[in-house]
Amino acid sequence: MTTISRLSVQDIRFPTSRSLDGSDAMNAAPDYSATYVVLHTDDARLEGHGLTFTIGRGNEICVKAVESLAYLVEGASLEEITSNMGEFWRHLTSSDSQLRWIGPDKGAIHLATAAIVNAIWDLWAKSEKKPVWKLLADMSPEALVSCLDFRFVSDALTPQEALAMLKRNAAAKAQREQEMREHGYPGYTTSAGWLGYPDDKVRKLAREALAEGWTHFKQKVGGNLEEDRRRAQILREEIGWERPLMMDANQVWDVDEAIANMRVLAEFDPLWIEEPTSPDDILGHAEIRRRLAPIGVATGEHCHNRVMFKQLLQAGAIDYCQVDAARLGGLNEVIVVLLMAAKYGVPVCPHAGGVGLCEYVQHVSIFDYIAVSGSLEGRVLEYVDHLHEHFVDPVVVRNGRYQVPTAPGYSITMHPDSLARHAYPGGAAWQEP
Ligand SMILES: [Mg+2]
Repeated sequence: MTTISRLSVQDIRFPTSRSLDGSDAMNAAPDYSATYVVLHTDDARLEGHGLTFTIGRGNEICVKAVESLAYLVEGASLEEITSNMGEFWRHLTSSDSQLRWIGPDKGAIHLATAAIVNAIWDLWAKSEKKPVWKLLADMSPEALVSCLDFRFVSDALTPQEALAMLKRNAAAKAQREQEMREHGYPGYTTSAGWLGYPDDKVRKLAREALAEGWTHFKQKVGGNLEEDRRRAQILREEIGWERPLMMDANQVWDVDEAIANMRVLAEFDPLWIEEPTSPDDILGHAEIRRRLAPIGVATGEHCHNRVMFKQLLQAGAIDYCQVDAARLGGLNEVIVVLLMAAKYGVPVCPHAGGVGLCEYVQHVSIFDYIAVSGSLEGRVLEYVDHLHEHFVDPVVVRNGRYQVPTAPGYSITMHPDSLARHAYPGGAAWQEP
């Protein structure tokens, strides 16, 4: 038996704002950051690592929230958690009603929940000596469903329906796993399209990305419309018209403004407009989708729980579902969303980038293909080429496709010296001018 003896948490920040990496219309100068959790056990060789992603100031609030939740996992045995993971998830999110009050299932407390829950999955997978996607893919449909909490979404998806969906896919799992191992999962790059980059840098990065084999590209929009047009023109000149171009407004527009601006940008034939307006505006997204078709509507990186995803799906508001592995309350809640999206026929294209998000979501999408959706149609996984060097098992991308991770765990463990250097505010990275 493995007992979680202690939880430790660190405030880790990377000074990315100095180069405007990650800049978009809403987030002008992010310092990519992680609330980094380690679950220590009574076995010195076995630790669970997890993080939630923030963009700088406020990371200390998530650290505090993790500290408040820690008592709910410290002292528990891994076996007692994993024997009924669904009940454990309910325990972590709902059993302390005082802590629940500052959510529920949203905001800093839910980001903190994600860091802890993902650390448990990392610990579980490491104890089984499997990568997380493989741990999930090898589970029976019954075992998987027992990891999930259907509270507040059973009007859209019942446990029985989830079980039936997983059973329908079971026979094909081995073949699909083989395909993933051979060909990897298709990705797209956002690296060329940050809002703060000058034109020549956009052109240069687009050329480099083409040479690396990328087939799908995304640009940030929502600043000055003429500048958005100019950068779209540059990207179309470089990537041609056969390769898909996506656009991402990062929530800056009102509903009518989104429609008016995208009617102008429609000349560049975008596949989707991502986060055209407030992430909470479900009916607004539905309206934008109705009036902008055939341009698709994508959202989800700021969609904070399964209930909102349920409503986005029920309202016919999205063409692409962009789950975030660290904003939803960890992998358990992500899987509920994968199943709902599959039922509603909406492809899942997870949000990535940041720090650690690419490392996480490769497991999500590979599992989705193997055991849930069984399809790659309309599905591409975001990739951003920043900060991977800080991870012990970083993502491997070849020819625009994520290669299947093979190391045990959730790929989220960072190098000790990276953690020390970027600890905030005392680390060496923050002492330099
Ligand atoms: Mg985005």
